[in-house]
Amino acid sequence: NNTSIGIAELKEGRTIKKVNKRACEYFGYGEEELTGKSVEIIHLSNKKYEEFGKKYYSTLADGRVIETEYQLKAKDGRILWCSLYGKAVNPPHLDDGVIWVIADITEKKQMQEELHLLATTDSLTGVCNHRSFYDKAKDVFNRTSRYGKQFSVLMIDIDNFKQINDTCGHDTGDNLLKKMCENCKTLIREIDTLGRVGGEEFSVILEEVTKREAMVVAERIRKRLENLLIDCGAGHLKFSVSIGVSGYTSDDTSFSDVIKRADNALYEAKRNGRNRVVFN
Ligand code: GH3
Ligand code: MG
Ligand code: MG
Repeated sequence: NNTSIGIAELKEGRTIKKVNKRACEYFGYGEEELTGKSVEIIHLSNKKYEEFGKKYYSTLADGRVIETEYQLKAKDGRILWCSLYGKAVNPPHLDDGVIWVIADITEKKQMQEELHLLATTDSLTGVCNHRSFYDKAKDVFNRTSRYGKQFSVLMIDIDNFKQINDTCGHDTGDNLLKKMCENCKTLIREIDTLGRVGGEEFSVILEEVTKREAMVVAERIRKRLENLLIDCGAGHLKFSVSIGVSGYTSDDTSFSDVIKRADNALYEAKRNGRNRVVFN
């Protein structure tokens, strides 16, 4: 009963027959509160409880072992990530009992999530970094071409950024990049992807958005940024961006075909005087 791992034995009707001290500690219950209860008590919902049963019933009845990572719920509502290992005592008769070995892996999971976040986001702006942006782009391209859908891409580059850095300092430049991303995020949807693809170059993937609609979004971004005030010493500074827009066509064989056109459009926007949106 003093092992560092949780153990529970279920009997007929998925009720808890026996549970060790460690498992009780994980879930914040006393032994008497769990014994005799349906194991539903530690599931996140009745639906989850039912689904779990259905999913693993036949595996257990076949005498096979279940090994999985699963979310369960403590008495105070805390959600725990658990590593579960389950086996029927006398298959195929599940009513004779099922033994579950449980380890709390919540901290490990949190650490993995933090590492994932670190690896996929740009530390200054919090938007997707170069790699995760292009990973996402590949996914979107594959999905779009497979299902005959649509997506559009914006390439955004800050105008005369070097001069802003030279005049107001690098820290102001960094702050501008942050503010710019915060504002862009409010103008796109949750499913859209904003990535920092260069030092002061950003790209947006707008899923299921036509080039015409993308032009509207781009113009909205350009206008918002044009009116943004950035703290610079005692006063404020204004800046602008140039945006190249392109849309997926069925002739495109990879994401780079689309981004190349957006890049060319951006180049046009710069050449035509900056602070504008150009479509290619
Ligand atoms: P253009 O209108 O043609 O885009 O002019 P520009 O000065 O913005 O373009 P250029 O590509 O010549 O310069 C980009 C500048 O962006 C140079 C570099 O110092 C600055 N930059 C790149 N990354 C960062 C960053 O992380 N922080 C800051 N503050 N500046 C950066
Ligand atoms: Mg640039
Ligand atoms: Mg620039």
